[in-house]
Amino acid sequence: MAKCKVCDKEFETDRQLHAHLKAHKLRVVGYYQSQYPRHDRQDGKIIKFKTKEQYFNDDFNTRTNLKNWIKSAPKEEVREYCKNLLVKRKKKKELEYAPTQVELRTLLIPPIQCYNDLFGDYYSLCEELGLKNKHSNSEEIISGSEYKKPGYKIYIDTREKKPLRFKDVETETRTLKFGDYAFSDEAASCKCYIERKSTSDFIGTLSGGYDRFCKEIERAQQANAGFVILVEETLNNCLSFNYLPHVYKKGTRVTPEYLFHNVRKLSQAYPFIQFLFVKGRVEAAETVKKIFTSGCVFKKIDLQLAYDRKKL
Ligand SMILES: [Zn+2]
Repeated sequence: MAKCKVCDKEFETDRQLHAHLKAHKLRVVGYYQSQYPRHDRQDGKIIKFKTKEQYFNDDFNTRTNLKNWIKSAPKEEVREYCKNLLVKRKKKKELEYAPTQVELRTLLIPPIQCYNDLFGDYYSLCEELGLKNKHSNSEEIISGSEYKKPGYKIYIDTREKKPLRFKDVETETRTLKFGDYAFSDEAASCKCYIERKSTSDFIGTLSGGYDRFCKEIERAQQANAGFVILVEETLNNCLSFNYLPHVYKKGTRVTPEYLFHNVRKLSQAYPFIQFLFVKGRVEAAETVKKIFTSGCVFKKIDLQLAYDRKKL
């Protein structure tokens, strides 16, 4: 049941209410912002309206405002607020696992480093809140030296169209059942497979190619493999890809919100996969090498967090 706040008329659905607003010469945005005003906690401006759910959920208009509020508000209030963000998220989305760095950074929730600062250890807090941990705040650094022995090779899938160039590592082209890159010694790399994506591959896979991508992930799952989706673009750029001229195609209806909604859904549904966003192809190649030659460290840590902390 939805009631019009202007004239008290009742409607079965929001949709009907929204259609009725024309009678008051009101648009949906204007209706909610005038009848249910909500303001950004940091700068006091009205919360931007995209959807009703988002409007009533958001306390800030931007992550920058959230960040600045965390810096300036009383610490106890900040702790309570940040903890509650996780509680709310868990309940609303029925989360099973502690959100990853990518999940947090694509929502109006602070990153893991901020939780570590406020609570000592993000993962302990998550456990306390009833979330399962896939990773830990391990100080183990992905060094890439542990398994740097002669004879190791990086396999590149035959279908990989734009192979990365690796310095000082032998490569071999092979047909892989999933992913684009694998290591010649499966035991040493904990059976890690890496799928490389350009920004436009990433957009295509997480929208129209979604079902096919799920099948690929399931093949990796059945083979008991590790699976890293490595995007050769920074997370911030991917979050605003609709402003990147070389990526954005006129008429595309896919939004970053939609893509990252799918990323978060996959991260919860398939706990063995990780998304990692790095700056450009040179860093992508370095990262592949480090992940393959660091034993199984990639399974224990959140790769995006390690990258953000410059430990990867
Ligand atoms: Zn009305």
